Amino acid sequence: MYIAVSGCLLGENIRHNGGHKRDGFITDALGHYAEFISFCPEHLAFGTPRDSIKLVNDPDGIIVQNNKTSKDMTAELTQTSKEELERIAKQPLCGIILKSKSPSCGLGSTILYRPNGYAEKKGSGVFAQMCQKEFPLLPIEEEGRLQDPWLRENFIMQLFAYHDFETFKASKPAMKELVAFHQSYKFMLQSKDDQSYRELGNIVANRYGEAFEELLAEYETRFKETIAHKSSIGKTRNVLEHMAGFLKKSISEVEKKTLHEQIEDYAKKIVPLITPLSTLDMLAKGYGVTYLTGQKFLHPYPKALALRSDIRSGK
Ligand code: SF4
Repeated sequence: MYIAVSGCLLGENIRHNGGHKRDGFITDALGHYAEFISFCPEHLAFGTPRDSIKLVNDPDGIIVQNNKTSKDMTAELTQTSKEELERIAKQPLCGIILKSKSPSCGLGSTILYRPNGYAEKKGSGVFAQMCQKEFPLLPIEEEGRLQDPWLRENFIMQLFAYHDFETFKASKPAMKELVAFHQSYKFMLQSKDDQSYRELGNIVANRYGEAFEELLAEYETRFKETIAHKSSIGKTRNVLEHMAGFLKKSISEVEKKTLHEQIEDYAKKIVPLITPLSTLDMLAKGYGVTYLTGQKFLHPYPKALALRSDIRSGK
């Protein structure tokens, strides 16, 4: 899996002051499962070390300005941002992680200044804006927001689901495989957005006899849009109860009671999501309920990332 990452987050000494902002979760945890493609439009434009820059919200548009000399650096940074974008686009990317607050890489956290030097509002950096425009369906997040366990879990789930779809597409699937793929994502899609899950089901049903290539393209867009939704405790609880329903004829009263208590405790934020999920997984395996054991929602990404063990990963 290829992920493009702001070079300073990977520990490269390319910040304006010659330092870095290495992020241990990205390099150490995610690094086990991904290959990183580093970028830095500022280093490419101005070298390192360099004067710091800021974004000024001018009436004629956003200007990149040298903090020391007030020189307009917009053309240079725009040019190298385009070059970096072209370079990373050559890879089969499954996501982009940007450094927050940067005039180049910040995604909604970059301060935009008024021409008089006062901070006006927050927006996105030059490179981040280009990424969003170029890759509207790609998982893109900034590292600052990834400190929030809920956003982190949602992003990592999206990243791995995106990669899974790309792998599926590369396997040259036919209709039968698309039906199976959709089925395996049932509960994950429902935990994101039930309406979108139903719409995806309508695409797979192919009531109008569309050609498979068109159908798959339509499914891909809707699938990637759906996995970008954020889950919630309420939606997840519904999914857990729905999954428990598939076990009700097999499991004992004690097992049923324990499972429901765990789901309730999850909804009350007493236990993390991993608690009822592990029980569901164990019961599904123990009673051979293959419809559940094959669900991506039970194992959306490598368990060693342990993101569902954090009680704060539910909101
Ligand atoms: S331009 Fe982006 S990658 Fe380069 S130092 Fe700044 S935040 Fe990091």
